[in-house]
Amino acid sequence: MKIHEYQAKQILAKYGVPVPRGRMALSVEEALQVAEELGGRVVVKAQIHAGGRGKGGGVKLAADAAAATAAASQILGMTLVTHQTGPEGRLVQRLLIEETLPIAKELYLGIVLDRAQGKLVMMASAAGGMDIEHVAATTPELILNEAFEPATGLMGWQARKLAFGIGIPAASVNAAAKTMQALAKAYVDTDASLAEINPLVLTEDGRVVALDAKFNIDDNALYRHKDLAELRDLNEEDPLEVEASKFGLNYIKLDGTVGCMVNGAGLAMATMDIIKYAGGSPANFLDVGGGANKDQIRNAFRILMDDKSVKAVLINIFGGILRCDTLAAGVVDASRELGMNLPLVIRMEGTNVEEGRRILRESGLNFTVADGMKDAAEKVVALAR
Ligand code: ADP
Ligand code: MG
Repeated sequence: MKIHEYQAKQILAKYGVPVPRGRMALSVEEALQVAEELGGRVVVKAQIHAGGRGKGGGVKLAADAAAATAAASQILGMTLVTHQTGPEGRLVQRLLIEETLPIAKELYLGIVLDRAQGKLVMMASAAGGMDIEHVAATTPELILNEAFEPATGLMGWQARKLAFGIGIPAASVNAAAKTMQALAKAYVDTDASLAEINPLVLTEDGRVVALDAKFNIDDNALYRHKDLAELRDLNEEDPLEVEASKFGLNYIKLDGTVGCMVNGAGLAMATMDIIKYAGGSPANFLDVGGGANKDQIRNAFRILMDDKSVKAVLINIFGGILRCDTLAAGVVDASRELGMNLPLVIRMEGTNVEEGRRILRESGLNFTVADGMKDAAEKVVALAR
């Protein structure tokens, strides 16, 4: 689960990381109010679940409250396009208004799980502020790493080593080290899968402050973080993905034309590959799960139908716990209920496959039954054209 910058900063602040004074605003009026409270120069920042906002015009400095109002009315409601949003961009529905700081240096801090080492890794770089992926690709020597155990956290000496390594002056090293240790603790405590402060700034008066913050929380851990689960902003998620999650379906929208309904993530991946191999392109990843019931099948089908870019549907099921007859009955019901008018190719094998085929045959609906995965992919790609 992704969260907004202002929410990530609230978490960091709880752990003792200095963040700029500021508040979230949902309207231009609120933005003005916050700017007046803060007084002086402020920055108006679009809150979307994507980075690169600065370059895309989603971060604006304002000399006073009047300028902040103008910036807020420009940014709120705009479709912000950044290298992380894709060309369609993202509608801005929230703002963060905060004080500006006199920046002397922009640095980078980030934590990821290193699966090879089986440890967490704190990354730090003097090349902060810009695209860290670019730094990693072109000048990897500018990114320093310290691996640490979640149970012990980042050690003081490791944090100081990183702080000195990225050129923090001696007078500010302790503050920077404390921030790194706090970030590490916040990461572990929240069951984060990614945490980043980019930029972490060194101010002209020697303070170390988190100017931007990003946290991704592991969805599988949300059951033990009720307070974090509440930070979810459904406006930032694809409506069909939100709908699918209500029914326990693993659905991810993609940009092709072949709708896919598959059971099991591995089979779903293989299905997407073979559609590509046949010259087509999948409209989604959809894993209905190993033990889907009739109701889930019906809802999965409805979600596929709601995607306007779908031109043909491929149902590829291996009947194990989910039996082929349950699937067939679900598909037939859903087709009738929704007035299905898209070409549909079905490939199924496994438990009760004969019964499943009979249900499809006797339904009178127009299905193409495929013989094997390759045949299914070729047929559905041809129909989607
Ligand atoms: P993004 O990473 O999405 O582009 P950031 O929050 O990193 O957004 O902001 C982009 C840039 O805007 C920062 O690198 C910094 O130079 C400037 N900036 C952001 N917040 C402030 C602030 N409170 N005071 C001064 N400059 C800021
Ligand atoms: Mg940033």
